[in-house]
Amino acid sequence: MSRKAGRHFLQIPGPSAVPDRVLRAISTQTMDHRGPDFAEVGLRALEGMKSIFRTEQQIFIYPSSGTGAWEAALVNTMSEGDRILMYETGHFATLWMKMAKRLGLAPEFIEGDWRGGADPDRIEARLRADTGHEIRAVCVVHNETSTGSVSPVADVRRAIDAAGHPALLMVDTISGLASIDFRFDEWGVDVAVSGSQKGLMLPPGLSFNAVSEKAFEHGKAGGMRRSYWDWTDMAGPNATGYFPYTPGTNLLYGLNEAIAMLHEEGLDNVFARHARHGAAARAAVRAWGLEVLCRQQGQESGVLTAVLMPEGHSADAFRATTLRHYDISLGNGLSKVADRVFRVGHLGDFNDLMLIATLSGVELGLRRAGVPHRDGGVAAAMDLLGAAAPEELETA
Ligand SMILES: *Cc1c(COP(=O)(O)O)cnc(C)c1O
Repeated sequence: MSRKAGRHFLQIPGPSAVPDRVLRAISTQTMDHRGPDFAEVGLRALEGMKSIFRTEQQIFIYPSSGTGAWEAALVNTMSEGDRILMYETGHFATLWMKMAKRLGLAPEFIEGDWRGGADPDRIEARLRADTGHEIRAVCVVHNETSTGSVSPVADVRRAIDAAGHPALLMVDTISGLASIDFRFDEWGVDVAVSGSQKGLMLPPGLSFNAVSEKAFEHGKAGGMRRSYWDWTDMAGPNATGYFPYTPGTNLLYGLNEAIAMLHEEGLDNVFARHARHGAAARAAVRAWGLEVLCRQQGQESGVLTAVLMPEGHSADAFRATTLRHYDISLGNGLSKVADRVFRVGHLGDFNDLMLIATLSGVELGLRRAGVPHRDGGVAAAMDLLGAAAPEELETA
């Protein structure tokens, strides 16, 4: 393999590129996770994540990918055979539903077309029909990373309350957290699931549960057979900053640095930056004459943009071309939309020029791969970015 000059553009919607400050924090010597100095690291991470989830309630941190924290959410709160209501927003919602089945739960899947977020009205209607309150939980994906659609979590909570239903609200915000607005306490979420390698700007390897008192009580009283994922095992040592087994020590150093960086920028500024980049990416797609997969106005994601390929053209062949010629990794289409869409990640430690470079890579790739399109996508994105001063600069 010959050397490729310049840096690789990792523009998949997670893992996202890791900032130097985080890499440096991770590269310090591993410490004794039962020694006296560790308590500060552990407490800082647990407290810090409360501020990111916007909660005063409990946080659990696992040395696992996000999928592990999905499992933790289900096995700590649900019992075998329990009915749960899940919503088909895309590939990740489908995987979570399949996991629930394998664990012996009885998920009911509200069908979706993968082109928008969860519809609270349909959830409310289903809950109203459940007069015996057999449904134990409502599970939605906040930012559906396979489609680039956002579910209105606060409205889902309102729907549950409007139906007068006691089901727990569980939310996968693996790719939403620290990129788009998420408010655990204010929105009345019972269990939130997240991971390290998306908005949190870390390498893969840490996952999170934020847990309401109500959900924690469910866990203490019942749930399924479990060991590694048990919240109560975690809660004891966590109180003093320790863990029941070896935590991802170096990733926790990185997490504390990432949390500090998010607060230096200001969480609301981080969200505004992502929203602005999402809008600019969509302006580029429209100018190319291509179609954004999400077609629900107001539910388009600031984390990534999924783009439909013109009929008869392979998204995977296009991605291979952009990787070969421009050293940029774009996200692939998953399951139902395999080879039909490519995904542009614009999350994490990311700025205007990085977005322009990314969109230039796409536009060059469209030309090189002979995909029918109009010129001017990058120019349209620049118009949008140039017209509005970034809010994060005004309020800094
Ligand atoms: C990335 C992602 C997952 C899976 O997380 P892993 O860390 O790969 O296990 C699940 N849900 C969503 C929405 C994601 O973006």
